Amino acid sequence: MESQNEPKLKSIFLPFLSTSHIIPLVDMARLFALHNVDVTIISTKHNSTIFQNSINLDSSRGRSIRTHIIEFPASKVGLPIGIEAFNVNTPKEMIPKVYMGLYILQPEIESLFETLQPDFIVTDMFFPWSADVAKKLGIPRIMFHGASYLARSAAHSVEQFAPHLNVESDTEKFVIPDLPDKLEMTRLQLPDWLRSPNQYTELMKVIKESERKSFGSVFNSFYELESDYYDHYKKAMGTKSWGLGPVSLWVNQDDSDKAARGYAKKEQEGEKEEEGWLKWLNSKPESSVLYVSFGSMNKFPYSQLVEIAHALEDSGHNFIWVVRKNEQNGESDVFLEDFEKRMKETGKGFLIWGWAPQLLILENPAIGGLVSHCGWNTVVESVNVGLPTVTWPLFAEHFFNEKLVVDVLKIGVPVGAKEWRNWNEFGSEVVKREDIGNAIRLMMDGGEEEVAMRKRVKELSVEAKKAVQVGGSSYNNMVELIQELKAIKLAKV
Ligand code: UDP
Repeated sequence: MESQNEPKLKSIFLPFLSTSHIIPLVDMARLFALHNVDVTIISTKHNSTIFQNSINLDSSRGRSIRTHIIEFPASKVGLPIGIEAFNVNTPKEMIPKVYMGLYILQPEIESLFETLQPDFIVTDMFFPWSADVAKKLGIPRIMFHGASYLARSAAHSVEQFAPHLNVESDTEKFVIPDLPDKLEMTRLQLPDWLRSPNQYTELMKVIKESERKSFGSVFNSFYELESDYYDHYKKAMGTKSWGLGPVSLWVNQDDSDKAARGYAKKEQEGEKEEEGWLKWLNSKPESSVLYVSFGSMNKFPYSQLVEIAHALEDSGHNFIWVVRKNEQNGESDVFLEDFEKRMKETGKGFLIWGWAPQLLILENPAIGGLVSHCGWNTVVESVNVGLPTVTWPLFAEHFFNEKLVVDVLKIGVPVGAKEWRNWNEFGSEVVKREDIGNAIRLMMDGGEEEVAMRKRVKELSVEAKKAVQVGGSSYNNMVELIQELKAIKLAKV
């Protein structure tokens, strides 16, 4: 797709300070480098450990990509060294200080945009100010959304029409208006900022305005996955947008890439454990193992961990469970250690503590389905490998993503989660072992519904692979976007 006479584009990527936003945006930055764009990723030291290994690999392949480290002003905001992100282990009381650190960094980032002289910038949705800076510098800003087109369309609809105000109770269902499908939800399942206005509602307004001021947006999605919502979103927002996914499939072609993802955490957990899971998984029959994981941000209370453990044991299926202890009390430690010991003895289950090499695990033929929180990246990754999901939405836009998986694509079985909560809170809902067990049974026990679901997700997996090949929808989007950006650069010359 490159002509020697065309200028090389120079770009800056600015991920947000949280693993769950860093991972897909860095994959996207690497995708641009793969397409011969010069890429600089701006990040802080601690956050860069999550992805630096991948950048080193790409660099050794001759791609023009690097990280520019800025120092997080920990001492200025009264934070210990190393706390510079919104992650699962960030103490709640430190969150405003991390925001403050980001605020202090803004002028430094702005001046980097000036001195590095990029032709365009790609910044996370949580940097709305970057749209104005880009305008000042006369370069396009592209906004990165960490969500699905369906989720953004649904949130937009609730903001516009407030359907949740027309029902009598928090548990009564309402239809989300003006969407391609009739999707129903309850007030309890809506994010708090959509239920009633708070500070985050204001922030989301500013983000939306900044999107309209930007050149366009990019999503880790592909046309065939949510085509109606892709079209709907562009129309509803009146903005340009490009689906460039599945980004994880496109840039992480080798096992070395897949293993490098989330490297910092894997190193802490130790290499031996990784070898352990692989050996264990390779000893299991095809499609027999459940992969149970709730993303990078979640921690369950002891009461919920107990229900999950019993549900998995009672299901009779093999499973890998990526689990985090809840440090609030020692109860869960003892319970989980006993559980792990028992699972080792029976060979039924394998626990991975903290962080798992998800891409490598999911593509192992022994995996037969997921139990997942419907984090958008995991949804895309599960479709990519053609596996159905037991859906258990928790926070962020997970409940909207569940609608896509269960109601639109019909490739998932819900556990019946009723209540949205904040990412750093436990909430009041504990999903019972019977409900988890029923959903697992429907996904794994070979019934008619399961067969149809598996057929559908396998077909989508083929579409995902086509999307990133020459002539595929995401491939064409990438070519189109780069051509448009080059035209802007040439027009200036
Ligand atoms: N991930 C991983 N290992 C883990 C947990 C997460 O590799 O133990 C990766 C996963 O492959 C995905 C991302 O981290 O790309 C998590 O994003 P998602 O949107 O699924 O969930 P979030 O972390 O935002 O809740």
